[in-house]
Amino acid sequence: MQTKRLSESEGDIKLAGEILRNGGLVAFPTETVYGLGANALDAEAVGAVYKAKGRPSDNPMIVHIADIGDLGSLVRGGRDGIGRTAAQVMEAFWPGPLTLIFPKSSAVPDATTGGLETVAIRMPSNDTAHRLISEAGIPIAAPSANISGKPSPTTSNDVLEDMDGRIDAVIMGENCEVGIESTVLDLSSDRPVILRPGVITSELISEIIGQEVFYDDTLLGTPGQMIDPQDQDALSSFKPKSPGVKYTHYAPKAKVRLIEVRESDFTEKVSQLEQELREQGLKSAILNYNDNAKQAAKNLFADLRELDRQKYDVIFIKTLDKSGLGFSVMNRMLKSAGYDIIR
Ligand code: AMP
Ligand code: MG
Repeated sequence: MQTKRLSESEGDIKLAGEILRNGGLVAFPTETVYGLGANALDAEAVGAVYKAKGRPSDNPMIVHIADIGDLGSLVRGGRDGIGRTAAQVMEAFWPGPLTLIFPKSSAVPDATTGGLETVAIRMPSNDTAHRLISEAGIPIAAPSANISGKPSPTTSNDVLEDMDGRIDAVIMGENCEVGIESTVLDLSSDRPVILRPGVITSELISEIIGQEVFYDDTLLGTPGQMIDPQDQDALSSFKPKSPGVKYTHYAPKAKVRLIEVRESDFTEKVSQLEQELREQGLKSAILNYNDNAKQAAKNLFADLRELDRQKYDVIFIKTLDKSGLGFSVMNRMLKSAGYDIIR
């Protein structure tokens, strides 16, 4: 398959909308990471996304909408099925990098939700994403536009690296502003729970809804929670609430190791580790975001991919303070390192 490179022009967005309506796959920029879009109401189109990504079919997709009016047909009970708390957070954070979980209507195929009775919905704020979804005129299922397990793509070239020849088109837009995926918030149980942390933090949500927001306990990950997608026995016995968390994730080819030591010990620790690797003929790189969580979010995935292109064997990353956005970025760092931390 020849993958078309499209621009953000009106004509190209029209063409991309048509491809999506006809069951094709189009990658497009959002404020978080690049998404791989398909008609969310077409089980066959969604099946093609799983295939292109090599994504396990029980890992549900997020459905993207352009207008609040598109929500009713996706949620069980329609607009009235949306609770007061959900309405409050939507009012505060949509359009933006926040995904909400709702009971699904019968219009949403099981293929889109990985067989779950709930559907994850987001309204992105990125202008190109918004124009594309409006133009398509249908809800768009869009997981990150990478091969499953690799770092998410935050530039159009990173999308092509994984998807060239596998999908119909890529909109060659800007680099993603946020750089990590949306916060996934579940309001369906008696207390609000974050299933995936993002730039909209628990603190920000708490402030709006006036109650405490919890983290799903699997987020505080231990090595036991990392499961190899090939290990069928382990997979079937592990049932986290957000199925995406059970697969290895965000991993570049290089081995990633996190370093959590005092600032004053960092340089010495790293030079000692690098020396050991040099003696084995291995090449290592260091990512140090100086505790700037926003910069780390924006650059982490792109940096991991760039260091792979430069053929590093090992990437050392200095850990971040785990408060606010730092917690969300650390979640990605921990997964990309397979929970390997040097202390
Ligand atoms: P990605 O498509 O790569 O952005 O990943 C989507 C994330 O949303 C995964 O971690 C999914 O497990 C999560 N997700 C999607 N739909 C649901 C749902 N209905 N309930 C819980 N988590 C969901
Ligand atoms: Mg993903």
